Amino acid sequence: MGLKGKSCLVLNGDYSPLNVCTALKGAKMVFTGRAEVVEGKINGLRTVSAQYPVPTVIRINHKIRLRDVRVRLSRKAVLSRDRYICQYCGSTAPNMTVDHLMPKHRGGEFSWENLVCACPRCNSHKGDRTLAEAGMKVLSRPKEPSYFILSLLYHTQKGLPDESWGKYLPPSLWQLAIQEIIGVSKNISP
Ligand SMILES: [Zn+2]
Repeated sequence: MGLKGKSCLVLNGDYSPLNVCTALKGAKMVFTGRAEVVEGKINGLRTVSAQYPVPTVIRINHKIRLRDVRVRLSRKAVLSRDRYICQYCGSTAPNMTVDHLMPKHRGGEFSWENLVCACPRCNSHKGDRTLAEAGMKVLSRPKEPSYFILSLLYHTQKGLPDESWGKYLPPSLWQLAIQEIIGVSKNISP
C-alpha cells in the first residue's frame, strides 16, 4: 500500500507537533486506536478519513506533556544529532565514531555535551587528549537536541517532508525541518 520508506508526522492531542515516525508505525497506531488520521493519501492522492489511507499526519488520542519526553542518549542519537558529520573536520566519511571531548578515563561523561560524531581519522588523531591538548576545535558546541528535530532526522533522511505537514508546524519549525533535511540529504548523496 505504499507505506514503505514513508514517514508520518505525529501530532500531540492538542495538534501540536510531537515527533515523526514511519508511516507503517503511524498506520499501526491508527489501526489499534491510539491515534487518528489527520491527513493521508491513497495511491498518492490526498484523502480525508478514508478507510486505510497511508497516513502522512496523525494525531494521538491523548496529550503528552512535552517535558515528559526526553531524547534517549545513545551512540546512534549522537550521530543523528550531528548528521553523521565529523565535528572536528566536517568530513562525511563512512564509519563515523562517537568521541568523548573530555576523554572517558579522565572523567569525561557519556552525555550530550561531551559526545560528538568524529571520523575515524580525527578520533585516532585526538586520542586520549583534550581538545586544547590536541589543538583541535569542534564545529559546534554539542548539546541535547530537540526531541522533534531528532525524530525528524531519524525518519526523513531520504527526502523532504510531505507538504501536508506544513500547516501543522509553526513556520519556524517547518523552515528548520527543511534546512535540517536538506543538510542531511547533501551529506547522504554520494
Ligand atoms: Zn574528522
